[in-house]
Amino acid sequence: MLTRLGVAGWPVAHSLSPAIQNAALAAAGLTEWRYLRLPLPPERFAETVRALPAAGFRGINVTIPHKRAALALADAASPVAAAVGAANTLTFERSGAIHADNTDVPGLLEALPIEPAGETALVLGAGGAARAAVYALRRAGAADVMVWNRTPERAERLVGELGGRVVAAPERATVVVNCTSVGLRETDLPFKSLPLQADTLGVGSYVVDMVYRPGGTLLIAEAKRRGASVVEGLEILVAQGAASFERWTDKSAPRQVMRGAVDHHARDT
Ligand code: NAP
Repeated sequence: MLTRLGVAGWPVAHSLSPAIQNAALAAAGLTEWRYLRLPLPPERFAETVRALPAAGFRGINVTIPHKRAALALADAASPVAAAVGAANTLTFERSGAIHADNTDVPGLLEALPIEPAGETALVLGAGGAARAAVYALRRAGAADVMVWNRTPERAERLVGELGGRVVAAPERATVVVNCTSVGLRETDLPFKSLPLQADTLGVGSYVVDMVYRPGGTLLIAEAKRRGASVVEGLEILVAQGAASFERWTDKSAPRQVMRGAVDHHARDT
């Protein structure tokens, strides 16, 4: 019988995870494993997920809008998933238990080309991705984590739970992480929607855009033009996917192959 993995989301048609994970499974010699797309509306999420182990599933990734629901239905959670309050990875244990992890946290830290300890950081947004970023940066020892959000009350709540401080107008920071969904659409104008100054993105700063889209985002293009080091959302997608792959298969993830699958897709779109 095939061992199945998948990504549950609503919508999920755009997800690159099947291409990335199936390339990794093939490279690791796991020929009897398949990674599928699972379009699941919120009202069918819990019931369907509970039925997956009987259909040969070992685990799933979970994306918008199910990350909180995934944590809520799990029987056990890693300390990281519990602290962030969201899970992007579920594992169906042989005991029948469902275990929740959050690999967005190690994914961000793996993709960052700088050790955040002692550095200043600015996180834009207060949703699920921002929660993972704030937790990751604080755990890695960032000296000051500023959080800006369009709706300040959400930023206050996040900081109350995970630490950092809310800012109404961002100050200069070494690490800047865009965790808003601004940039997803071609018509999005990050410099109109986000309070970013030219000198926040210059030489010596590290700009991370969680958002990814074919052809790259305007924020990354502009940060590169101004001399900043950049981390594209696709790098984090690969890193969080590698951590999920290792959790399910107990094998080291072929990161180059996974990155190659992303590049192949980017060329084709
Ligand atoms: P979410 O929980 O829905 O949060 C969305 C955030 O974007 C909120 O802070 C929201 O602010 C802000 N926002 C939306 N429209 C805005 C606008 N026009 N101007 C300013 N702020 C705006 O979503 P999420 O799960 O955190 O994900 C955020 C993004 O990260 C998505 O694009 C997602 O695809 C991406 N992501 C990527 C990876 C990866 O592996 N690369 C992993 C996770 C997420 P309000 O609170 O004011 O509404």
